[in-house]
Amino acid sequence: MAGAHAPGSRHQSRVPVGVVPGHDQPSRSDSRLVAWCLAGLLAAGAAVGLTNLFVEGVLREGASRPVYVAALGAAVLTAGYLVWRQRVSPAATAGLVALGDVLYVVIGWSTTDPLRYASPIGLLFTCFVAAWFLGPRVLAVQMVAVVGACWLVLADNYDVAGQLAVQVAVNAGTLDGAMVGIFLLRRRVEALLAATLTLSSTDPLTGLANRRSLVEQAPRIWKQARRDGQRVAALVLDLDHFKQLNDAHGHAVGDAVLRAVADSLSATVRPADVLARTGGEELVVLGLVADPAEARHLAERLRLAVSGSSTGREHRVTVSIGAALTRPADGDQPADELWRLVDRADVAMYAAKQDGRNRVRLAAPGVVVPAPRQASRPTRSAGPAGGAA
Ligand code: GH3
Ligand code: MG
Ligand code: MG
Repeated sequence: MAGAHAPGSRHQSRVPVGVVPGHDQPSRSDSRLVAWCLAGLLAAGAAVGLTNLFVEGVLREGASRPVYVAALGAAVLTAGYLVWRQRVSPAATAGLVALGDVLYVVIGWSTTDPLRYASPIGLLFTCFVAAWFLGPRVLAVQMVAVVGACWLVLADNYDVAGQLAVQVAVNAGTLDGAMVGIFLLRRRVEALLAATLTLSSTDPLTGLANRRSLVEQAPRIWKQARRDGQRVAALVLDLDHFKQLNDAHGHAVGDAVLRAVADSLSATVRPADVLARTGGEELVVLGLVADPAEARHLAERLRLAVSGSSTGREHRVTVSIGAALTRPADGDQPADELWRLVDRADVAMYAAKQDGRNRVRLAAPGVVVPAPRQASRPTRSAGPAGGAA
C-alpha cells in the first residue's frame, strides 16, 4: 500500500556492516560496534601472540621471528586504525577476516609445536566475525579457508597424510559447523528484529503507519520541506457516523470498512505522503504541498476515495477532512510542530462536521490552538470544537 510504508527507501550501494535486513538506513552505532569488536579481537590476538616472544621454546629460531613480529604488528596497527575510523564496510570486514586467517597461519608456522601453541581454536574469532557480520558467499569462502589454514598449520605435526586429513576434518569441520550455526542464529535474530520493528510502526488492523511511525517521519518531512521550499500539510480524516455503522452491522463489519477505507486511501495518496491511523476511525495524511489549493485538491481526492471504497457488501461510508498548512522555519521541532499542525487540521475537520460532513475544510492560517498535542494524545470521544474555516 502506497502510503502505508515507513520511508527509508534510500538505497545505498555500500551498506556498512551492522544493518538490520529490511532497514536500509545504516545504523552508525551498529557499525561503530562492529569496528570496536574487530579492533578488540585483533588487539587481543596480537597481545596473546606477542607474549610468545617472551616464553622460552615456543617460537622457532631464525627467519620466522621477524615475520611473526611483523604480522602481529600489522594486527595492532589495523586495530588502531579501526578505533580511529569507528566504521567498517563489509568488504573491509572480509579483508580483516582474511588477515585473521593469515595471522593464524603465520603463528602456526612460527611455533615449534603448532598443535600445542597454535590450536585451530584460534580461528574461532575469524569464523565468528564472518558468520555474524558477513554474507553467505564470504562465509562459504571462509569455510574453505579454514580447511586450508588448518591443513597448512597442522601439516608439520603429522607424518602420515591420513592422520593429518582426519585431524583437519575434525578441527575444520567443528569450526565450519559452528560458523553455520552462528549464521543461522544470526538470520533468525535479524528476522525477529525486523518483524519487531515493523510491528512497532504498523497499525495491526489496517496495516497503515501508526502514530509512532507518523512522529518518527516528521523530521524527514520537515527537512524536505525546508530543502524544497514547500509547505507541510496535515490532513485529519474522521469517518462520518461510524458509530451508527458499527451499531447497525456490528464491529466486524466496521473493521472491514476501516480496512477497505485504508486500502482506498493508500492507493490515492502520493508515494511520498505518510498515511497513518492515529485513532479509532481517525487518520492523518502528512505530505508536502506548494499551496492551499494543492492541499484542498489532495483532500478532495481522498474524500472521494473514501466514499468510493467498498467492502464488497455495499457498506458505504463518508469522511470529513480538515487540512492545515505550515511553512517550516529554522529551529522548528518537527514532533511539536506536527501536533500543532494536526490540532489546527482537527479544528478544521470539526468545522467540516458541523457544516454537514462528507466535505473538506482548510484551517485558517495563523489559527492558534492553546496546547500542542503530545505523542500520547488520547482518542477524542466528544463533540465539535468549532473555530476555523
Ligand atoms: P462523527 O461523524 O461525528 O465522527 O460520528 P462518529 O460516530 O464517527 O463518531 P464517534 O466518535 O461518536 O464514534 C466513533 C466510533 O468509531 C466509535 C467506535 O465504535 C468506532 N470505532 C473506533 N475504533 C474502531 C475500530 O477499531 N473498529 C470498529 N469497528 N469501530 C471503531
Ligand atoms: Mg472520531
Ligand atoms: Mg467519526
